[in-house]
Amino acid sequence: MTGYVLQHLGETKLELGPSGVGDGHWRTGRDGDDILWLVLDKRGTGTNTISEDVIRELDAHIAAAQKEVPKALVIRSAKQSGFAAGADITSFDAMSDVGAANLLKQGHDVLDRIEGLPCPTVCVVHGAALGAGFELALACDYRIAVDGASFAFPEVQLGLHPGLGGTFRLPALIDPTEAMTLMLTGKTAYTKHARSLGIADQIVEERHVAAAVQDAVDGKMTKQEQGLKARALGFEAARSLVARQMRSQTEQKAPKEHYPAPHALIELWEEHGDDRSDMQRGEIASFAKLLETDTSKNLRRVFFLRQKLKDAGRGEDDIAHVHVIGAGAMGSEIAAMAAIKGKRVTLSDVATDPLGCAMKQAVQICKNKHLSRIETRDALDRLMPDPQGYGIGRADLVIEAAPEKMDLKEKIYSGLKGKMKADAILASNTSSLSVDELTKYAPAKTRFAGLHFLNPVSKIDLVEVVKGDATNARTLNRLAVFCGAIGKLPATVGDYPGFVVNRALTPYLMEAMVLMEEGVTKEVIDTAALQFGMPMGPVTLADQVGLDIGLHVAESLRDNLEKPLATISAVLRKKIDDGDLGRKSGKGFYEWADGTPHPDADMVEAPQDLTDRLILPMLDACVEVLRRGVAESEDQIDGAMIFATGWAPFRGGPMHYARSRGIDDIILRLKELEKAHGPRFTPDEGWQALG
Ligand code: NAD
Repeated sequence: MTGYVLQHLGETKLELGPSGVGDGHWRTGRDGDDILWLVLDKRGTGTNTISEDVIRELDAHIAAAQKEVPKALVIRSAKQSGFAAGADITSFDAMSDVGAANLLKQGHDVLDRIEGLPCPTVCVVHGAALGAGFELALACDYRIAVDGASFAFPEVQLGLHPGLGGTFRLPALIDPTEAMTLMLTGKTAYTKHARSLGIADQIVEERHVAAAVQDAVDGKMTKQEQGLKARALGFEAARSLVARQMRSQTEQKAPKEHYPAPHALIELWEEHGDDRSDMQRGEIASFAKLLETDTSKNLRRVFFLRQKLKDAGRGEDDIAHVHVIGAGAMGSEIAAMAAIKGKRVTLSDVATDPLGCAMKQAVQICKNKHLSRIETRDALDRLMPDPQGYGIGRADLVIEAAPEKMDLKEKIYSGLKGKMKADAILASNTSSLSVDELTKYAPAKTRFAGLHFLNPVSKIDLVEVVKGDATNARTLNRLAVFCGAIGKLPATVGDYPGFVVNRALTPYLMEAMVLMEEGVTKEVIDTAALQFGMPMGPVTLADQVGLDIGLHVAESLRDNLEKPLATISAVLRKKIDDGDLGRKSGKGFYEWADGTPHPDADMVEAPQDLTDRLILPMLDACVEVLRRGVAESEDQIDGAMIFATGWAPFRGGPMHYARSRGIDDIILRLKELEKAHGPRFTPDEGWQALG
């Protein structure tokens, strides 16, 4: 039995035993006050999911409770990791259209019966209650949130909407527009927010759970009333008005053509929002239909790609102390992320200003990540500015994030000789220098590698762990596990110009520059990319990255790749000469003073091959890195591109897109583009092996 619940149920003087039903995913018992406790402790895993067998067992327990009604029912989790992570996504593929609806009906029936029990029902939530876990909590009369609890419906990220009653229970509980926002965006309601919305009835510390349960059972816990607005939204006309606004906002972020789920949810609510049973029937039918869409299948694929990368980062890294050299844009965020995740971090720089800025930046990141006051304090305690570099001798890992100049890095590395601990690793955050070249200056060649974080480090999950010729397997593994330990997704790749991500992204950015030189407007170019499903058009992205940085990467790739890249456009050089470097200088191709640009051009005049000119060179570069063994597999490339660049997730990644569109079709198209625009479109020889 998981220690967590034993430890915390101590006060209830309750001995919970395996239920004897099914596989025993639920621990059950009645306490001295005849309160029935159902404690979810899913077998064989550290995280609860609401799988079919969990529901089936719950069904049996609820049937027993209906026969012999307890004074109250309390549902909670035995896992340290939290309440429940939602439905079991591995089972989705097996659910056929008809089967899915039937399975969902069974789940709905159990939750309806919990709701219908004549005794008070209480759900105690610690950690996250996601998706179906949240829906189970919603079927209870009361939700007690242990400090730090959170609630969310992440189904939209899987191309779905809630399917176990969330679409009607949440809008019936809280302000319906807030409920819809949570379901449409997948955003998390953290403890206090959840309380103010009316999702949680009370926030308590773990040691006060038993008293809070008693209050709920005795009817002493007050529930928030839904306001006037909720009543108004009972009328179809009011709902239609609000639905129209929701639709246009949703369309901007998740166009219906690519992401049908949020739009299906809005339609459901608009049509049936005043009738619970219609809503329930509609939810089941719509969820079953969405399961079959390519979008949902591809987004579920993305979920598993994430899991695969995560798996590569599991284990023990033996890295307690990290020293970061260079407290600039990258070093400061790398240091903050490592400190937040429990590493002791020292941070050095030749100047003192960047160190001060780095500390401020760390506070901001803690805020953005919703860390509690205590967690923030602890993270900042672990992060030490270290202008003299005293930490170098104590660090298990030294990360160099100094400016991108070979001679500077060489100087830094020679300064490290004889100073680092015997077993310590040195890793460079370089994005465009050769790891093998850098290895020449490293104090220990087998313990040197690239560790390519992407900007902004606190938001981009992917990290490329770059293997040099001399890097040994243990170093690579420790670095991958270090990435996992600080909440990142490691992709171990070979040393190649641009590694995987920048190698693939650069032609996309460069083609945009060529197109601009040909007279196509930046808005038309960006709109084409957005319509394909990229999170940002290439011109906006170039501005965001910084035109000088982009140019530097492009030049380095051009000098080191066999395949010709587009000529670096005069438009780009002129911008840089004028000091218009992009977002950081307030102006690049776009004006950034007014906020992030949202191009939405009329595409009537757009060149007919525009989208393929932008997208296919990226796919071609992916095939090149695969052929050369720079990337391990098609899945790794897809994961890397999605988690580093946001590459159209609903298409399942560039390689998956290539396969669904047809390898032969792509080769043919590249040949046409080659004829029309030159050898930068010549299909890589690796395509043949994929056909
Ligand atoms: P930056 O210019 O923002 O920061 C570099 C910091 O290093 C500065 O604070 C500088 O004072 C300090 N520094 C200079 N010489 C030093 C020395 N001898 N010892 C210690 N500190 C020194 O640069 P950045 O953008 O953070 O880039 C750092 C590295 O990360 C580069 O290799 C770059 O290619 C790579 N990178 C950058 C990005 C990006 O988008 N900025 C993305 C990925 C990788």
